[in-house]
Amino acid sequence: MSEARTVAIVGAGPVGLAAAAHVLERGLTPIVLEAGPDVADAVRQWGHVQLFSPWEYNIDRAAARLLATTGWNSPEPGQYPTGAELLEHYLEPLASKTVLAAHIAGRRTFGHRHPHRSRKARGAIAGNQADLDIARQRSGQGIRRRRE
Ligand SMILES: Cc1cc2nc3c(=O)[nH]c(=O)nc-3n(C[C@H](O)[C@H](O)[C@H](O)COP(=O)(O)OP(=O)(O)OC[C@H]3O[C@@H](n4cnc5c(N)ncnc54)[C@H](O)[C@@H]3O)c2cc1C
Repeated sequence: MSEARTVAIVGAGPVGLAAAAHVLERGLTPIVLEAGPDVADAVRQWGHVQLFSPWEYNIDRAAARLLATTGWNSPEPGQYPTGAELLEHYLEPLASKTVLAAHIAGRRTFGHRHPHRSRKARGAIAGNQADLDIARQRSGQGIRRRRE
């Protein structure tokens, strides 16, 4: 059985982006499918609300390693960001200033979007499941879904 080289990740929320960072570190190619027009579309809906966990629990280590290559300064670990601050100081730089930027496809809904789907299901890495493989088509038509 051949090893999958492209890993599809459903949703460019905090978990999906962190998963993509880990996939890159493993030498595979992530493609993050985000239903919304921008990354972390769900977090944008509650940007005014303060998180209940401080920065130190909101920043993934692989994501931080990617951000470190851009001169990013990690926020104060003990402070509690709002959703908007999580976007501004972490998720948006991660998605736009690191190599991850080339691996995110917006307005791509995988299957049926469900607002209450579990974190595990939404962040699922499809590359390890059955024979599903999603490859990026660079011809201008966006994403091509392929079954082998
Ligand atoms: C007010 C509030 C405060 C919170 N505070 C905390 C906190 O302090 N600490 C904490 O750990 N958690 C907190 N949470 C929970 C928080 O939402 C999650 O920890 C975090 O956002 C989960 O990230 P995620 O990427 O799994 O999901 P989400 O943030 O929900 O992101 C999922 C992404 O997937 C996209 N998507 C969904 N379905 C599809 C599809 N079919 N195809 C393509 N894209 C799709 C969505 O548009 C979205 O961008 C809070 C939640 C709320 C509402």
